[in-house]
Amino acid sequence: MMAWIDLIVCILLFVLLAYVFFSVMITALHKVYLTFHFFMTLWPFCQFAIRATDNPKLQLLYVKLAFVDMALLAVGWLFFTLLLTNQSLSVRKRMPVLLTAPALIAVIAVLLNPGGTFVQPQHGEYVERIYGPLFWITTPVMIGYGIVSLCVIGKALSNNRAPRIKKQVSQVLRGMIVVMAFICADILLNVVFPVSRMVIPGLTSIGILLSAIFFIVAIHRDKVFDLLKIAHQDIINTIQLGILVLDDNETIVETNRSLPPFLHLKTGDRFDMAAILPRREAIAAKQFLAKYKNDPLESSEIEVVYDHEGKQHILVHASPIVVDGTRVGRTITFQDRSRLRELVNETSRQNTILQKQNLALYDMQLELHLTNQKLQRMATTDGLTGCYNRNYITQQLEQEVIKHIENENPFAILLLDIDFFKRINDQYGHLTGDEVICGTVAAIQRQLKVTDILARFGGEEFIVYLPGMDSGQALELAEQIRASVESNEIAVPGLIQPLSVTVSIGLLSVDRFPTDPDSGSATLITDLFQEVDHVLYQAKRNGRNRVMFALK
Ligand code: GH3
Ligand code: MG
Ligand code: MG
Repeated sequence: MMAWIDLIVCILLFVLLAYVFFSVMITALHKVYLTFHFFMTLWPFCQFAIRATDNPKLQLLYVKLAFVDMALLAVGWLFFTLLLTNQSLSVRKRMPVLLTAPALIAVIAVLLNPGGTFVQPQHGEYVERIYGPLFWITTPVMIGYGIVSLCVIGKALSNNRAPRIKKQVSQVLRGMIVVMAFICADILLNVVFPVSRMVIPGLTSIGILLSAIFFIVAIHRDKVFDLLKIAHQDIINTIQLGILVLDDNETIVETNRSLPPFLHLKTGDRFDMAAILPRREAIAAKQFLAKYKNDPLESSEIEVVYDHEGKQHILVHASPIVVDGTRVGRTITFQDRSRLRELVNETSRQNTILQKQNLALYDMQLELHLTNQKLQRMATTDGLTGCYNRNYITQQLEQEVIKHIENENPFAILLLDIDFFKRINDQYGHLTGDEVICGTVAAIQRQLKVTDILARFGGEEFIVYLPGMDSGQALELAEQIRASVESNEIAVPGLIQPLSVTVSIGLLSVDRFPTDPDSGSATLITDLFQEVDHVLYQAKRNGRNRVMFALK
């Protein structure tokens, strides 16, 4: 029983090794190879153990173990070959079971050894042994695995693959040929045609050793195992992001080339976040440091500006490395944002310039608009009185006449002339004459609606357009205007007494406009002016300060 304790401990230790081996993060290729290598080691060990004991039962145990190992090796070989030639992906889901089945049947046959049909002792021991029919059935199965492995290699070589894989595969092929040659030699020399009664030891073991050497050369020369690690290192070192890995004691365990050199961060040093922050007394820095210290399971970040060969804007990001809910370290990244900041600043500078230019443009547009308005006013109004000029009323009337013809709305035109105006000029001077003209305009304007149009026709003559007004209404209004002017007292600077004038008014009321398709609107207006002038003349002739009326 005491002897078994060591064995149980040994098995338990092995189970622990297997647990560590399968639970750590290494590639599938690592795992397959290490399993395979373990089984390769087991064969020579069993061969040694068979000879190291006199106990036939133990010898039988080691013999069985050796052949079980051989069956597993055969399967392992096949899978390792598939993996190495990158064909594992093409192996379908149920294939692994099918591929393993013959080896498992062989294992059962070896373990049961029914009636010594697999192996029998010679002279009561198993150092020299006689193989039965089951051996001759299982051995071709093992050789079959070897042949299938060779086929896999052949396929990999014939498929036009990358030279790296071709080199690797031919190395494996050499290993396979060597091991199969040694196994065949072992079977031929020790089992089929034994030269002497003495068994030649270690043939298969040496074959296994040589093939292992071939495999290891293939693996090392092409860095198959290191591929991922090399790729990761390459990415870490070529990435633009500065990367720092800390353990849970804040000791730097990994750095990359993109870390800001002026921070002098080296593997093995203790990392002090507070020490690397410029202006750590700033509120944002304080908040960041508090979160960094007190919430290590949370990610946190801050953008800082270093004064090193100009301004360096760096985004510092800290995030925890968590395994099964426990923080085992941190990753700190440093992203250089200087170029981005420069671009943002430049863009906002350009924006400010553009905004200023826009404002200047807006001012210019406003000025232009005001000037245009002024020009428009100047073109349509009279400089002295501020009412419309002759040009404007003429254009306006041309449009109104067209409207009137279309809608048959009545309208009226008044032509007013200040009576004996020459006398005012002669007696008080031209400037006073101007004042009187303006005062008279104000008196006329007081009687008009917004829709009515008053314009200076020339000198001291005015025209009034009254849209929508019939003859009765127009006559009434004309009379009001006349009275308004008559009663209007115009205060003139330098004169004690205000001045008063009268106006003569010619009224032309249009109820129905004779539509002459041949004459244009300009001609019609000229006719209208002539007619109303004629009526005004009558008012003058009949004694002035009166309204004369004509209907069209
Ligand atoms: P009547 O009753 O027949 O109209 O007599 P009148 O003196 O008003 O005669 P008329 O209409 O021919 O004279 C108009 C005068 O108005 C002639 C001109 O000197 C004067 N006049 C024309 N334009 C202006 C002006 O802008 N300012 C001043 N002060 N006088 C003007
Ligand atoms: Mg006059
Ligand atoms: Mg006149």
